Amino acid sequence: MAEKLLEITHLSVHYGAIKAVRGIDFVVNRGEIVTLIGANGAGKSTILRTISGLEKVTDGSILFNHQIVNHMPSEKRVRCGIVQVPEGRRVFPGMTVQENLQLGAFTVSNKRQNNAGYDVVYDQFPILKERRHQDAATLSGGEQQMLAIGRALMAKPKMILLDEPSMGLAPLYIQKIFDIIQKIRNTGVTVLLIEQNANQALKIADRGYVLEGGKILSTGTGEELLASHEVREAYLGG
Ligand code: ATP
Repeated sequence: MAEKLLEITHLSVHYGAIKAVRGIDFVVNRGEIVTLIGANGAGKSTILRTISGLEKVTDGSILFNHQIVNHMPSEKRVRCGIVQVPEGRRVFPGMTVQENLQLGAFTVSNKRQNNAGYDVVYDQFPILKERRHQDAATLSGGEQQMLAIGRALMAKPKMILLDEPSMGLAPLYIQKIFDIIQKIRNTGVTVLLIEQNANQALKIADRGYVLEGGKILSTGTGEELLASHEVREAYLGG
């Protein structure tokens, strides 16, 4: 039977008078890729940021790996296995690829484990190994996105939260990023993914939730949502 890794119950998140998330419930099972789709402003980023501790819960609860994490600081959530790859990549341009990766491993104190982390990342991203001594600024946009994902993997996450990983990338890299997300899941890391590119996201997702105005409108397997007339009309261009 599926084991719940993340369970969100009646979650609301307000920014002052703005009710960005309005009483949602959803579950991510261990080993799944789950995607949140919805128009701009539907509340997707707010949900991710709240799970990783960057926004405060107004109401409801976030249960991760059998523990309520509502009031836990972000850094502690990373130690518990929740790691967010931020939108827009945000690597440190003046530091080398390897130094950027090292920053992701702040939760890993054991040197042997740390080196094993590099092996995992360099195995997934051979281009980062080739460029490990170069400044991150010299990487292309797609490579910087790989570095941001690699940095998240260095923390040995149980779950990664990806906010628009394909945004602004050339088509070749978009496909690569989706392939990489599947590979990461195959290594046992659970994935919660937000994508404007809903079509691609649903193709690789086990399940998805459709959001509108801070509420969940519908849910289903990736296949079901791809086949749904309403979803096609509203989010996949008909
Ligand atoms: P997008 O794809 O545009 O990021 P989204 O689905 O991720 O959309 P959110 O960014 O979560 O949506 O925004 C949900 C609502 O909350 C929107 O009305 C947005 O204007 C508002 N909002 C988001 N961040 C803030 C903030 N820091 N302060 C005030 N309002 C915010």
